[in-house]
Amino acid sequence: MAKADFYELLGVSKTADEKELKSAFRKMAMKYHPDKNPDDKEAEKKFKEINEAYETLKDPQKRAAYDRFGHAAFEQGGMGGGGPFGGGGQGFGQGGFSDIFEDIFGEMMGGGRGRRSSGGRERGADLRYNMEISLEEAYAGKTAQIRVPTTISCDVCSGSGAKPGTKPTTCPTCQGAGRVRAAQGFFSIERTCPTCQGRGQTITDPCTKCHGHGRIQEERSLSVNIPAGIEDGTRIRLTGEGEAGLRGGPSGDLYIFMSVKPHQFFQREGADLYCSVPVSMTTAALGGKFDVTTLDGTKSRVTIPEGTQTGKQFRLKGKGMPIMRSNQTGDLYIQIMIETPQKLTKRQRELLQEFDQISSKENNPESSGFFAKMKEFFE
Ligand SMILES: [Zn+2]
Ligand SMILES: [Zn+2]
Repeated sequence: MAKADFYELLGVSKTADEKELKSAFRKMAMKYHPDKNPDDKEAEKKFKEINEAYETLKDPQKRAAYDRFGHAAFEQGGMGGGGPFGGGGQGFGQGGFSDIFEDIFGEMMGGGRGRRSSGGRERGADLRYNMEISLEEAYAGKTAQIRVPTTISCDVCSGSGAKPGTKPTTCPTCQGAGRVRAAQGFFSIERTCPTCQGRGQTITDPCTKCHGHGRIQEERSLSVNIPAGIEDGTRIRLTGEGEAGLRGGPSGDLYIFMSVKPHQFFQREGADLYCSVPVSMTTAALGGKFDVTTLDGTKSRVTIPEGTQTGKQFRLKGKGMPIMRSNQTGDLYIQIMIETPQKLTKRQRELLQEFDQISSKENNPESSGFFAKMKEFFE
């Protein structure tokens, strides 16, 4: 199948400058990113193509070669299908992404997926931990103990992978550089050393505990401080608590994704809480009092005056949720819902009918004459 034109893929003209390329790539990459298109093979393919196109065009040398020879510039040499430049767009999930990719998705993907530095050091993966708490817990805040399965640096070899008392030796292929250079067609290219996979050293005597990996699997216990007032969807980042890096690379981060369970009685809107309270028709008409238990465990008295209508709100100041990292709190709104009596007895029905007969327009100013007013409006 013929490969799509790199300029067309990015939707730019052949004369597009660096800035235009970057912004076009950003837009396209956002659109086709696998995280946004789960299980969509087409999108994934497109995403790789876009990445490859950008990898090529952002480099003036590669762009010039592409402009002159088209895709053929990268296909000769037959290096395992990767072309002489390797990587470009081929290594999804294993590095090889452009810097801009890191810019855009660095945060989202936890940054540094496959980011390598010299000596084969590699940043550890970020971990995600989903935690669900109740609204009461979100109100009060808490310290939660969690157990996180992760990999940590091997304590026996201090992460080097070499048996204690021995040392990794300098890789004979790359002399420790981790990269090798080779001439390929009219380009001189550099790639990761095949002997040491870029680490620059080889281990002749591997550590028996970690078998030369330098990392071991472990379950760690962490305490996480959840601030009072935390909102649903908040992400808490614990820097350096992710997986250990490879060969002395930095650890990844641990992200705690917080979700707050819906509450039976309170609905939250920002820092304010809403509570629907059903009130009998007679209480609403005659007036009355009731107590609501608030999230701090205390009771608050609500007095409703006679003639209270459904939907009426009463504000309990400062009885809402705490606002994170402040001394303020939201309010609690009590919303009155008037309950119409059901399953009337004969006697109740008689009383209500009698009540209705002696009711006046002043008793029901909204409903009296409503349909007459409506008719008038439309005629
Ligand atoms: Zn070890
Ligand atoms: Zn090497």
